[in-house]
Amino acid sequence: MSGPEIASGVQALLGGVRSAASPFRTYLKDLHRRFANDSEGRVADYIPELAKAKPEWFGISVATVNGLTFEVGDAQTDFTIQSVSKPFVFGLALEDNGRDHTLSRVGVEPTGDAFNSIIKLDTKSGRPQNPMVNAGAISTAGLVKGAHLTERFNRLGGMLSRYAGRSLPVDMAVYTSERSTGHRNRALAHLMLNFGMIDPNVDETLDLYFQQCSVLINARDLAMMGATLANGGVNPLTKEQAIAPEYVQDVLSVMYSCGMYDYTGEWSYRVGLPAKSGVGGGVVAVVPRVMAIAVFSPLLDERGNSVRALKVCEAISKDLGLHLLAHSPNRRRLTELLPGIVD
Ligand code: GLU
Repeated sequence: MSGPEIASGVQALLGGVRSAASPFRTYLKDLHRRFANDSEGRVADYIPELAKAKPEWFGISVATVNGLTFEVGDAQTDFTIQSVSKPFVFGLALEDNGRDHTLSRVGVEPTGDAFNSIIKLDTKSGRPQNPMVNAGAISTAGLVKGAHLTERFNRLGGMLSRYAGRSLPVDMAVYTSERSTGHRNRALAHLMLNFGMIDPNVDETLDLYFQQCSVLINARDLAMMGATLANGGVNPLTKEQAIAPEYVQDVLSVMYSCGMYDYTGEWSYRVGLPAKSGVGGGVVAVVPRVMAIAVFSPLLDERGNSVRALKVCEAISKDLGLHLLAHSPNRRRLTELLPGIVD
């Protein structure tokens, strides 16, 4: 199926299942109203093009493993995926190289440092600590196979598109902006080359990484991408396999331990869901076997997490009893709002 065919197929399905008046959508609308006037945080500006984002943009989208979708606010406003791409590309690297080789190039240990930190890379083994920080993500992009940049990007973009269920474009302005200002990422890549942690085609891999970060999505896409992970790697609407089922747990594990920058410990304690955040303002949180929540709001805290997204996800997790480590989660409200979604 071509990109546009996938897109129109999904639109038809979405039109068929979205229910404007459902109690769950009313719940999401209330949440949106509660946090819409919260103007804490700042739009990212270290990549000049990202500074054009509007502080008031705010969308929430939820997609379930049985293909229901719910959205409120700016759920169809495009933004660049940025670091939210990282777990998905880690999955592709695992498929291309297997666990042993992939883990020889990138670990799975949280850093507690900022996403673009260079310190531990130099003072430790030279192996980036995990695929969610920039060093690890560049190393991971280096593992994506293909004869040349175009083929490698087509494979990577195709993989993200299978998760979303439609063909995702690249924002060329953001890509060019990142490419011309990404000196720190270049430094990380060259330091890894020095340690033999990345293959010598460093410039090509950096280009691939900048393109990967510049893929345009919206909250609806992001919820579907998360729901695909929640559904064992199969897109709930198109039924396409986006990742081999045996690697889904690898991807979700690094999201759980490292996905929310240097707030991940706090996030896992409070929200209890594997998640990933990006400086474009997107956050996706996955409830395995149930659904995914995506929030888009470009006002970020000092760590790079969307402030409204943190608040929305924490509220949903508490309200619906979603914390994965809860002894006896109270999912009565979830069952009321989404009958048939959990046993
Ligand atoms: N492309 C961004 C960078 O490399 C991604 C940062 C992020 O979303 O965390 O700095």
